[in-house]
Amino acid sequence: MKVTCDDGCKKEFNIPNLISSYINDDVERTFFRCPACGQEYDSFYTNSQAREIRTQVNKLRSKSKLSDKEERKLRLYTDNLQAIMASLREEYGAR
Ligand SMILES: [Zn+2]
Repeated sequence: MKVTCDDGCKKEFNIPNLISSYINDDVERTFFRCPACGQEYDSFYTNSQAREIRTQVNKLRSKSKLSDKEERKLRLYTDNLQAIMASLREEYGAR
């Protein structure tokens, strides 16, 4: 996937490897840098709760067939995860 370095050199680049760093005891920021100028771009934020849910989501997704109950669980987890990540972005994303 190609993105444009809007906040930096305005060049197009392929998204490089994501970098993760903890911004406090609980919250992890995942981001990438423009390879040309080093401008940082946020990808997403997770906390321990979000990571726990993500583990459950991955577990369910790795199954070849889900029961109705598991399908519902997966939807619930996914919704929760999106809500948590949206509120983390809200809280920590603006710099
Ligand atoms: Zn750049």
